[in-house]
Amino acid sequence: MTNPPPAPVNFIRHIIDADLTAGRVQSVVTRFPPEPNGYLHFGHAKSICLNFGLARDYQGRCHLRLDDTNPTREEQEYVDAIEAAVKWLGFDWGAHHYFASDYFEQLYEFAEALIQDGHAYVDSQSAEDIRTHRGTLTAAGKNSPFRDRSAQENLSLFRDMRAGKFPDGSHVLRAKIDMASPNMNLRDPVLYRIRHAEHHRTGKQWCIYPLYDYAHPLSDAIEQITHSICTLEFEDHRPLYDWLLEKVAASGKLNPQALPHQFEFARLNLTYVVLSKRKLVDLIEAKAVNGWDDPRMPTLMAARRRGYTPEGFRRFAEMIGVSKSDGWIDYSVLEECMRDHLNDTALRRIAVIDPVKLVLENVPEGHEEECFAPNHPQQPDLGKRAIPFSRELWIERDDFQETPVKGFFRLSPGAQVRLRYAYVIECTGFEKTADGEVTEIRAKIFPDSKSGTPGADQYKVKGNIHWVSKAHAYIGPLRMFDRLFAHPTPGARREGDAPELERNFLDDLNPNSLTEIQAAMEPSLKDAKPEDRFQFERHGYFVADLKDSSAGAPVFNRTVTLKDSWK
Ligand code: ATP
Ligand code: MG
Repeated sequence: MTNPPPAPVNFIRHIIDADLTAGRVQSVVTRFPPEPNGYLHFGHAKSICLNFGLARDYQGRCHLRLDDTNPTREEQEYVDAIEAAVKWLGFDWGAHHYFASDYFEQLYEFAEALIQDGHAYVDSQSAEDIRTHRGTLTAAGKNSPFRDRSAQENLSLFRDMRAGKFPDGSHVLRAKIDMASPNMNLRDPVLYRIRHAEHHRTGKQWCIYPLYDYAHPLSDAIEQITHSICTLEFEDHRPLYDWLLEKVAASGKLNPQALPHQFEFARLNLTYVVLSKRKLVDLIEAKAVNGWDDPRMPTLMAARRRGYTPEGFRRFAEMIGVSKSDGWIDYSVLEECMRDHLNDTALRRIAVIDPVKLVLENVPEGHEEECFAPNHPQQPDLGKRAIPFSRELWIERDDFQETPVKGFFRLSPGAQVRLRYAYVIECTGFEKTADGEVTEIRAKIFPDSKSGTPGADQYKVKGNIHWVSKAHAYIGPLRMFDRLFAHPTPGARREGDAPELERNFLDDLNPNSLTEIQAAMEPSLKDAKPEDRFQFERHGYFVADLKDSSAGAPVFNRTVTLKDSWK
């Protein structure tokens, strides 16, 4: 990775510094633990940059762990996409690629140890009874009638659960903690359930599966994670996290001196999008977008098609920082980070997005010459490219006004402007249809005004417009995107809403989030390869679409406008 920005100070770094100073840990080991049940979104990018970034800055390591404890929802396709997204963001797990399912045997042994020590029991109540006996925030729960089974009986039942002797839902393994705890997570949480389902990695080897709250801390401990960083909604789960580690360590199966600690940070909330896999699935099912990689989606695979860059995401993560309190980040902050990086790196090109014909009367038919334009105004070493110039050009329709409004310095009858990188011209006339649509503009060039030639400077004109030679242009599609949602917090209640009103985030979709147009582009763009990025002068940053471009026929997506022009 090139030029990591200086590490900003945050509360997690303070904790790590203190842990290193006090000798609690010798090196920093973090992990990114996605569940392979969907594609990664912008919120995950925050967590990836944080976990891998800490490992990088402290010369520790970060594990990629696929948290695949739910056999019915997980697929290999998601595993592959998650790996690709982490790599794309510029991070490397080295040899430390793991699956929670790698630990099924060990996790099972830990469960037997908990049973033997009287810390877990097999409950044979129905799921419904377990739920109703859990109590509420104000009322204590009720002990299960099976809570006092002997360790021997529990062990034998648990082994029979594993052996496949029982149907789904007939028994569960629960931690024996406290049914009256004010923390609901400690009211004898379920650790294992029966699921006769095929797992994407272990096949039919198991028919009992650990729950997240059980598998997660113990997987962290197995991998000797030092700092297990998760989002704030898991704060109330931390007592269970610590309880499990302590009890398994007490059984002698884990080193009590090397247990992981959980730390919580605020999740990313970004305006004008939704960041939850469930809602992203709803968008796809409602056909509001064309799949997970639709460039309007807030997934990393969609961002890539949109032309967002890994450097932009890393910059964004550094900029928004890490804190303990939830808040909203405006979408324009993300766009500004992309713009910053693209401004430095994207080659400049010309595209006319709403073309109208300009005929240069004193340029002979069939005449062709080259003009030269820099590939990047601030980086001369990126060189120049030749652009063909001829009698008929495409220019932007809004660069011409029949009767110019005050302050309009571009083309109008009798006015002079410079054709960027070419000649100064004077407008001599135009044609329009009966309903006023301009169909052709006419002008003459000043032959001694060509940019870069000695006489060019004597012409002082205020307007400068871009153009593409009509005979040479690549006419191709541009996709212009707008916010996916028309409201900053889709689906959220708003001031003045009637109490009974329930909003659905799908009602806040922006109906105009995608417009496809045909543009006239300079000829070299015809050879753009998928993922080539450009700044189209005056129009923003564009990328050749990864999926829909073919040789000689690229399709361009607008990544972001040149300025924050969105209203
Ligand atoms: P979702 O809510 O979209 O379903 P998830 O949290 O269930 O996401 P996981 O695959 O379990 O998805 O998440 C992997 C990691 O990414 C977790 O450590 C989680 O804390 C983190 N993560 C998920 N969403 C965000 C977010 N919006 N901001 C920061 N981190 C996030
Ligand atoms: Mg989750």
